Amino acid sequence: MERLQKVIAHAGIASRRNAEQLILDGRVTVNGKTVRELGIKVSGNDRVEVNGVPLQKEAPVYLLLYKPRGVISAAQDDKNRKIVTDFFPYIQERIYPVGRLDYDTSGLILLTNDGEFANLLMHPRYEIDKTYVAKVQGIPPRGILKTMEKGVKLEDGMTAPAKVKMLSLDKKKETSIVEITIHEGRNHQVRRMFEAMGHPVTKLKRETYAFLDLKGLSTGDSRELTPHEVKQLR
Ligand code: URA
Repeated sequence: MERLQKVIAHAGIASRRNAEQLILDGRVTVNGKTVRELGIKVSGNDRVEVNGVPLQKEAPVYLLLYKPRGVISAAQDDKNRKIVTDFFPYIQERIYPVGRLDYDTSGLILLTNDGEFANLLMHPRYEIDKTYVAKVQGIPPRGILKTMEKGVKLEDGMTAPAKVKMLSLDKKKETSIVEITIHEGRNHQVRRMFEAMGHPVTKLKRETYAFLDLKGLSTGDSRELTPHEVKQLR
């Protein structure tokens, strides 16, 4: 939700101050009703018209980024660290990430300016599979991996069933590479699941999101989603 005068200003019709004047003058309608107060907030679903002309919506943008470690998945950061939108200096639209990856997690993350699309994908009902490859301390026995598949008790409740697969192990270094697929999106979920099993994660990468993967991309690379991919995700 954004203030009405900001939305009008961002559509390039008027400065913020002029937008306020348009509202006060009764020249702005929201969903067919004239609005004269400056306080109201509107969302992308509201139909805003100025002098009877609908605001032109920004063209939707759908991007896939191979996020490196050491990057914040947010549209801004108060500590001035590198953020995912820094990889798209040529994009004029106000894009933001769909969900989060930890600062230290690398891998696939989507960005868009389409709030409805982002909300849809993040809704738990959609149960989008995300596959991670984790380097963990120790060598989790089969029983532990089975427990993780069934559900792990975390502070915020049991985790939903997951798929877990040992990819490789290093007996000398006492480390393992494990693949895990979850459809929930709780904070630090994969790290917390392994931690709860006594095998802390030392490196984490998201390899897939639904049917999307990182094929052909190196860390820091990005590409636009095809219209077909966007349609498939909806
Ligand atoms: N789970 C985590 O623990 N971290 C991430 O970045 C993503 C999933």
